[in-house]
Amino acid sequence: MKILIVGGGMGGIILANNLARRLHEELHAGKARITMLSASDRHMYQRGLLYVALGRMMPDERYRDQRHLLETEIELHVDPVEEFSLDQNQVRTKGGKTYPYDELVIATGSRIFLEGTPDLSESAECFYTEQSAVHMFKRLQEFQGGRVVSSVGVPHRCPMAPLEITFMLLDYFKDRGIREKTQIHYTYPIGRTHSLENVAKWATPEFERLGITYETLFNVKEVDGHGKVIRSGEGTETP
Ligand SMILES: Cc1cc2nc3c(=O)[nH]c(=O)nc-3n(C[C@H](O)[C@H](O)[C@H](O)COP(=O)(O)OP(=O)(O)OC[C@H]3O[C@@H](n4cnc5c(N)ncnc54)[C@H](O)[C@@H]3O)c2cc1C
Repeated sequence: MKILIVGGGMGGIILANNLARRLHEELHAGKARITMLSASDRHMYQRGLLYVALGRMMPDERYRDQRHLLETEIELHVDPVEEFSLDQNQVRTKGGKTYPYDELVIATGSRIFLEGTPDLSESAECFYTEQSAVHMFKRLQEFQGGRVVSSVGVPHRCPMAPLEITFMLLDYFKDRGIREKTQIHYTYPIGRTHSLENVAKWATPEFERLGITYETLFNVKEVDGHGKVIRSGEGTETP
């Protein structure tokens, strides 16, 4: 059986290693084969972007050699897929090769789509890609105090990240000695401060204790970079 995994991110690696352990005997007997097609020979640890955005980690520290993260039985090719031919059970790669399969796993992750919200990519900082996290740190270093809105829409990668970045920003401003000059406001799209009820029950009094203001049922509709305001689909706005 030929198992083909497209994408060497967190999901692809966990699945490939789990399968390799479970199919150990079949792999050694030549009855099964696991192949991974990856877009890069380096694995990027996405969670570390939170630390890059606050200057607590260098971008390069978040990379590991892809090969070393995989069980030795897994065949790895750094050659991204360009075309899926599901009716023929095969894929074609950028390098021009064709890989047939019996079972296919598509683990190519998700993409950030800031362009879907007017003025968001031009007027807001984001930490969900390396480039944007590095840019956010640059902007933070220039920041000398004022009002910061920590806002998130749905869907987003990692349910904890919006809360984490908000509390991390507070520590960052404290460390810089500008906490007193900075107001932090948090918005969240549903009717409480986090999708998990128990997390919301913890986070809400923490916000109040730490002087972070918050607004729920706020789904970002547009950013007005000139007026320095974000508006929600619910008809409210926050400066
Ligand atoms: C700031 C931040 C904090 C996070 N914190 C946590 C946390 O605390 N806990 C947690 O569980 N999760 C956390 N996450 C979420 C976690 O990183 C993702 O859920 C996880 O990386 C998703 O794994 P994935 O394999 O689906 O996608 P990805 O990790 O994005 O991997 C997809 C891979 O597919 C590759 N690819 C794309 N197209 C092709 C193609 N055509 N051919 C071949 N390869 C291709 C990409 O290059 C990439 O390597 C966080 C994410 C972020 C951004």
